[in-house]
Amino acid sequence: MLRVPSHGECEILRAQDIVVADGVIEEVRPTGTLGATGTPGPLGASGPLDVSGPTGPSGAGHAVDVIDGRGLLAVPGLVNAHTHSPMVLMRGAAEDVTVEGWFNDRVWPMESNLTPADVRIGARLACAEMIRSGVTTFADHYFFPEQIAEAVAETGLRADIAPTYFSSRGEEALADTVKFAEAWHGRADGRVTVSLGPHAPYTVDDGDLRTLAGHARRLGLRMHIHAAEHLEQTQSSLERRGVTPIRVLHETGVLDAGALIAHGCGIVEQDLPLLAEYAGTTAVACCPKVYLKHALSPLTPVRDLLATGVTVAVGTDGAAGHNTLDVWEALRLVALTQKQAVRDATWMTVSDTLRLAMRGGARALGLQREIGALEPGMRADIVLTDLSGLHCRPLHDPRAALVYSARASDVRTVVVDGRVLMRDGRLLTVDEPALLAEADTRVARILDTSHGGAVQHYDP
Ligand SMILES: [Zn+2]
Repeated sequence: MLRVPSHGECEILRAQDIVVADGVIEEVRPTGTLGATGTPGPLGASGPLDVSGPTGPSGAGHAVDVIDGRGLLAVPGLVNAHTHSPMVLMRGAAEDVTVEGWFNDRVWPMESNLTPADVRIGARLACAEMIRSGVTTFADHYFFPEQIAEAVAETGLRADIAPTYFSSRGEEALADTVKFAEAWHGRADGRVTVSLGPHAPYTVDDGDLRTLAGHARRLGLRMHIHAAEHLEQTQSSLERRGVTPIRVLHETGVLDAGALIAHGCGIVEQDLPLLAEYAGTTAVACCPKVYLKHALSPLTPVRDLLATGVTVAVGTDGAAGHNTLDVWEALRLVALTQKQAVRDATWMTVSDTLRLAMRGGARALGLQREIGALEPGMRADIVLTDLSGLHCRPLHDPRAALVYSARASDVRTVVVDGRVLMRDGRLLTVDEPALLAEADTRVARILDTSHGGAVQHYDP
């Protein structure tokens, strides 16, 4: 089992049993010692145990499910801290373009074609891909959020969903995002939480940012927003309005409400003291593959952010940019690009990288007491990985294998909230062939941008 402490080295604990009851990790203890407390049931197998049932392992008439994890490594479920899940429908449809071209010629015109039914299919396919990759929680930001919430409820994943809002959509759309939050926050046995999702300071005016931040404070929600995505945006904001995008978030109360900031590659030195004031409730999601693809530099200033106490988490962004929802790939790129960015091979160690993708992700979503580690009292979000493949052998250090060798396809079994969503490679809550067939009937219409419309125009 992978132990991910809040600080210091991650550890591999061998031959452990993980006891789960009512969706919560009740106990982690050496294999074969469970009988000592008088706990009944078939608990002698080595490796993780998923024990579920209405009364838990010590009650009468309970159902006990034992997963034999011998030869597998149990790790905390990965958190995808920034994505737009339904964009899997546009995977590979916006390549070799500038940031402006990506938004204005490809993605925002395609998004004007989307119907709620498209989002429904896209979100379910994304959930299937994430379960297969060992992602147990994701922070989503998109249109038709009810469809995504239903996909999450149905597939058994955990997600924080922010309904995307542009000021160009008007007051009624703003009211709808608040209604969605009131209706869905805490639903699906607490697996669905909601953040408010103004798209960015360049697409949402200060008045709307202030209004949404006010609603977030009133409802006890967080904000999820793109800001300072790259340095040119920060420079443009300074030229047009004399302040950085991060200062806009401060002045409009977004930071005060608690914010998950996507990207932050354009966070500059003058922003750091401001972010430090809100360090306990601010997080930045780093999604390096899309920065590399769009030839952006610099990258998220992870070292500076961590030094100010801001949480850093790992995201993929949508598949129209990242092409996968594979957080193993994303965390590997965080380690590689951050080492190169500060020209220090000894930092962003394997332990620190794993911590960002697990505890960092949990904290970014305000779920640090529930997920991010395999410890008693945490929700049972457990991923069993098989590191026996040639690309991981000989297995000198499983932590290094997880960061630098493992593939999404090494994930064998996934448990979320104590429920098994994938068992030995078989998805239990998603009908993949049916979804793919349904998606195939929709993609040609979604990709057709001959109408010349778009959901928004990019001019930060
Ligand atoms: Zn994004």
